[in-house]
Amino acid sequence: MKTAVFSTKSYDREYLNRFNSSHSHELTYFEAPLNKNTVNLTVGYEAVCVFVNDDLNKEVIDELSSKGVKVIALRCAGFNNVDLDEATNKGIAVVRVPTYSPQAVAEHAMALILTLNRKTHKAYNRIRESNFSLERLTGFDIHGKTVGIIGTGHIGALFAKIVLGFGCNVIGYDVNENKELVDAGVKYCGLDELFKNSDIISLHCPLIPATHHLLNKNAFDKMKDGVMVINTSRGALINTTDAIAALKSGRLGYLGIDVYEQEEKLFFKDLSEEIIEDDEISRLMTFPNVLITSHQGFFTKEALEEIASTTLKNLTDIEEGRGSKNEIKV
Ligand code: NAD
Repeated sequence: MKTAVFSTKSYDREYLNRFNSSHSHELTYFEAPLNKNTVNLTVGYEAVCVFVNDDLNKEVIDELSSKGVKVIALRCAGFNNVDLDEATNKGIAVVRVPTYSPQAVAEHAMALILTLNRKTHKAYNRIRESNFSLERLTGFDIHGKTVGIIGTGHIGALFAKIVLGFGCNVIGYDVNENKELVDAGVKYCGLDELFKNSDIISLHCPLIPATHHLLNKNAFDKMKDGVMVINTSRGALINTTDAIAALKSGRLGYLGIDVYEQEEKLFFKDLSEEIIEDDEISRLMTFPNVLITSHQGFFTKEALEEIASTTLKNLTDIEEGRGSKNEIKV
């Protein structure tokens, strides 16, 4: 299938090229994201292949349809950046990679916790400058702490097993309870109870209207003083202005984020020689107890292989008229 592949980096091209040898799709790579400014690049393509920060709103989908695009292949699981209703109206199939190493994201959430807690990033830099002092590197035992997990689907469930392994009390909130986790020792509770009792809160639910700014001032006010909050899910689950206020007051003791509400202007880019226009990320970067990674939770060899192979198979299934089991239906 003649496919315009947007938001590509060297690693995307490497893995897609490797797996395309058994599919032979005609792939054209663009570094730019797909949005209203770049949609004209899709003239003559049957499919577009996009990632988390491409913006497929109604206007973009209408343009894709008028140019003859029949398939949107997401190289990710989340689809909050695609107007699905409009895609359905225009008869454009939307396929995704529903799971690609949920372990990668669950393990990254744990990496954020361990780094924030034991300050290994600071120790690394100190030692490189021959500073062998332990001053201000005190952490806490994770064993015995209460970890609250919001969203216990693929990633949240694996994360629950990791923290159970650390000897934590694990409590969960989800609109659907997972019986296997209950059997493993996770106790489900209401959101307010989770906020009140957790030493560490990790977000693993999707970004939907019901979860937009789920962690806002009202939620932070209900949490324990000094709570650690981890977000590897989607940036807009947290109201950044309220998180900054909670960090300043000390209510929020640690914040680890792999996602950020305005990340599309920043993440995946080297801006080291640029002026950062976003004052909220700049403020977050100044806190000693905030750790930011640039949406790298998924970024393992295994996940890149799964993303490339599933994306190409999704295109083949649609092209050969079988339909794809990974098509998102509204
Ligand atoms: P999933 O669909 O398996 O699980 C999501 C869970 O959230 C489900 O159990 C669902 O019932 C629950 N949920 C839905 N609405 C809820 C609500 N209002 N309150 C609480 N829980 C609710 O998804 P997953 O594969 O576990 O992925 C979770 C999220 O992780 C995705 O939505 C995506 O945004 C994010 N993600 C991030 C990365 C990364 O690189 N950082 C990679 C992949 C996915």
